[in-house]
Amino acid sequence: MAERNITAYVTILHTKDSPSGGKFVTCLSNEYGLIECFLFGGSKSKYRSLVLPWHTGRIWLYKDSKHDLKKICDFDPECLFAAVRSCYESIMLANWASELMIKTHGLGGTGFSVMQELLTTIEAVVTQPTFNAPVAELMRACKILFGVKVLNSTGYFQKTYACEHCTGTNTENSVLYYSQNTMGFVCEACSDEGSLPVQNEAVKLLFAALEKPMYECLTDVDALTSLEASVLDMLGHMLERPLFTSALL
Ligand SMILES: [Zn+2]
Repeated sequence: MAERNITAYVTILHTKDSPSGGKFVTCLSNEYGLIECFLFGGSKSKYRSLVLPWHTGRIWLYKDSKHDLKKICDFDPECLFAAVRSCYESIMLANWASELMIKTHGLGGTGFSVMQELLTTIEAVVTQPTFNAPVAELMRACKILFGVKVLNSTGYFQKTYACEHCTGTNTENSVLYYSQNTMGFVCEACSDEGSLPVQNEAVKLLFAALEKPMYECLTDVDALTSLEASVLDMLGHMLERPLFTSALL
C-alpha cells in the first residue's frame, strides 16, 4: 500500500470510540487483509452510523505517513447484515468470528471470503427460519462450519479421510475418535485415554462441508454440534490462546 489514497472492499469487524470522539476501526478487506483505520468527525460525522460492525462495502482511505494513520474519507456500505444484529446468539457468533479474524490478521490475508460466507449464512438462517432447529443450535452449527473452513484455509485441518495416525492402513469407517494429541480423527487402535468419541457419519459430514456452501450443510445440526469439542480443540491449537469472546458463546 505505497499510494496515499487507498480503496478496498471491506467488512467492518470492530470499532472503538476514541477520547476525541472519533472511532478506531478494524476492517477486513478482500484486497489487503486486515486494515486498521480511523474515523474523524465525532457525533456530527455522517459516517458514524455507517461505520458499524459487519457493514460491508467499499471504503476510501487516505494514508497519512507522517502520523502513520489511515483516515476514512468515504464508506459506501452495500450490505448491512442487519439480521445478524437481531438476536443474542447471532451477535455473539459474529463477535467471536470477528475476534478470530483480528487475532489471525484476517487468516494471513485470506479470511475475507470465509467471513462473508458466515455473515451471509447467519443472515439467511435468521431471516428465513425454514430449518427444523432452534436458532441457538443453528448458530452452534454455523460456528463449527466456520471453524472447519478457517482451519482448512490455514492448513490446520487434516484432509486425509482416514485415521490420522496410521493413515493408509484403515478404511474410512474406522474413524471413531478425535485425538487431541494428533489433532485429528483416529481409529480405535490409535485412540488414547484423552480421545473423544465421535460418530463416523458426523465426521463424513464435516469433510463434505469443505466442498459445499455453509448454508447447504445445515441439514444435520445434531451431527455437526456433536463435533464442537473436536473443532474447538483444533482451533485452540491454531490460535494458541483462547479468544475473549469464547466465554460468551
Ligand atoms: Zn489408526
